[in-house]
Amino acid sequence: AKKPATGLETVRLTKSFGGVRAVDEATVAFRDGRINALIGPNGSGKTTFFNCVTGMIKPDSGSVLLRGKEITGRPPHRIARGGIGRSFQLCRIFPRMTLLENLLVAVRATGLRQLLAPAREAEAIERARGLLVRVGLDHLENAEAGAISYGQQKLLELAGVLMSDPDTIMLDEPAGGVNPSLIGRIGSLVRELNAEGKTFLIVEHNMEMVMSLSDHVVVFDRGRPIAEGPPSVVQEDPRVLEAYLGV
Ligand code: ADP
Repeated sequence: AKKPATGLETVRLTKSFGGVRAVDEATVAFRDGRINALIGPNGSGKTTFFNCVTGMIKPDSGSVLLRGKEITGRPPHRIARGGIGRSFQLCRIFPRMTLLENLLVAVRATGLRQLLAPAREAEAIERARGLLVRVGLDHLENAEAGAISYGQQKLLELAGVLMSDPDTIMLDEPAGGVNPSLIGRIGSLVRELNAEGKTFLIVEHNMEMVMSLSDHVVVFDRGRPIAEGPPSVVQEDPRVLEAYLGV
């Protein structure tokens, strides 16, 4: 059995835009080994939280800790090197490059020097090919990324995240805009990777996916967690219903 330990934590994390406290003293912990989901109504601060954790924006105050080590305000490439990988709500790929080239660029973006040295290029290519097999896109290795379906682009982006072998993977709406058969494929991949030891933190609006996939759900409202627990418990929580329905 997996023994969960606290992996990623925030303590009173705060970020305002003008007068809006997008993230408001959010203290929350995500255990290693789990598939964690982060849900909440539109505007509740989920994306801002993700951006603060991954270094895309600097929080005003509070801290972000990875296994007890403070990583607050570090630039994104350093946080990536610390073992946190992420995908974006609007898939980030290079449409004019081939699938294989996209993966080689992805590893460059996280600055993994050991895979960048010319002598290691063959190794990077081999790794990229292995990941294309893994996400079921190997037959499209030389296709332009802009020519494959949106769901396939999300799988390509996930393969790009896996290039740097992160131990914590943050996915921003992996099922958004994806057709149901590929949603199933993305879900199975997440399960497989989790069984291999990867921790997940997923922001997702597709409740069927959240409820079937996650071990632990954290609900955000107005910039902070208002409830958390196993999906079946959170689903019944009156505070959660109130946050969503605004009653
Ligand atoms: P969610 O991802 O849960 O929908 P967001 O983090 O996108 O929530 O937004 C939280 C709040 O912060 C919203 O009120 C939103 O309008 C505001 N906000 C987010 N990003 C910015 C920004 N760059 N500039 C101004 N306001 C922002």
